[in-house]
Amino acid sequence: MSALYLHIPFCRRACYYCDFHFSTSQQTRQDVLRAMLQELIMRSHEITSPIQSIYLGGGTPSLLEYNELMMIFDQIFLLQNVLQDAEITIEVNPDDLNRDKLKQVRNSPVNRFSIGVQSFHDDDLKYMHRIHSARDAEYAIKGAQDNGFDNISVDLIYGIPTLTHEGWINNIQKLISFDVPHISAYALTVEQHTPLFHLIKRKKLNAPLDASIIRQFNNIAQILPSAGYEHYEISNFAKTGFRSRHNSSYWQGKAYVGIGPSAHSFDGKNTRRWNVSNNIRYIKGLQGESEWFETEYLSKENKLLEWVMTSLRCAEGIRRESADKFGPGQFDKFINNATQMSSHWFNADADVLRLTPSGMLMCDYITLQLLN
Ligand code: SF4
Repeated sequence: MSALYLHIPFCRRACYYCDFHFSTSQQTRQDVLRAMLQELIMRSHEITSPIQSIYLGGGTPSLLEYNELMMIFDQIFLLQNVLQDAEITIEVNPDDLNRDKLKQVRNSPVNRFSIGVQSFHDDDLKYMHRIHSARDAEYAIKGAQDNGFDNISVDLIYGIPTLTHEGWINNIQKLISFDVPHISAYALTVEQHTPLFHLIKRKKLNAPLDASIIRQFNNIAQILPSAGYEHYEISNFAKTGFRSRHNSSYWQGKAYVGIGPSAHSFDGKNTRRWNVSNNIRYIKGLQGESEWFETEYLSKENKLLEWVMTSLRCAEGIRRESADKFGPGQFDKFINNATQMSSHWFNADADVLRLTPSGMLMCDYITLQLLN
């Protein structure tokens, strides 16, 4: 089964913390979309099995007009065999999800929303320079549900300096009361070269505190499972049957093709490639005028490192039979290295090594120690 990702590199406003590739100018929009249709044709042979998931991410795919959205889907359905029950997700910003947009999406193949709520408190949204209000966020969820969309994921961010303990608990409880079946929660990180990085450096905004990040991660890792959500990946929680099929294929090392500026692809074996993070260079590249992607061949060591890290992030953990495919005794070596670290971080038996929520907070460090 294959997974297809499409990156729509346009936003109305730049969130201070964002380091994804996007442009707030819409000038190149028609040319980028045309180039993406071209890329879908050029790379159609790379998709060798029926498509089980399509994900429109960005950027802000919800700012596309209906005809733009359908132009993309028509091309995909013309070129590829898409499974009848494929998961088809669109990332949406709450301010876009009005009655017209909901009607348009209903008439498209989309069957799953990923809504970028981030917080239900206006102070937090202002700190992050989000374009929408807390009220927009509530309307968006309710509007989607009232229009028959039950497969909804909501993104939250924790560790925002304006977010109090009570405010965070309230954000989580609100999603539980909306009965949203999938929740992704990410720590606010200050990436270099983002506006947030410069604003903190110039002391215009406060920096996130590690203590709040740890506390708020522990809160959500405790509250959601007790409300019936499975903590199936470090940042992801789902009700039964609502795991993200698309993101799960990334974590399971399956093949996927990424279309659009900055999109990444993996052949499921040892080749990764990524498109240039620049709209003009992408357009020119597709016209044959310049290089537009880079390729990396993974060494055996890199593959093992990636596999350990993604396995630890997921509830399934590291399994003996999978670990030993990298070499005899590999699983026992991991267990041996794990015993040198805090027992609070692991939940192990004879054949599986998993992280506890406190271990998940140390995932990068633990990965390196296990591979020592
Ligand atoms: S809407 Fe999403 S992609 Fe656009 S700037 Fe904000 S976080 Fe980044």
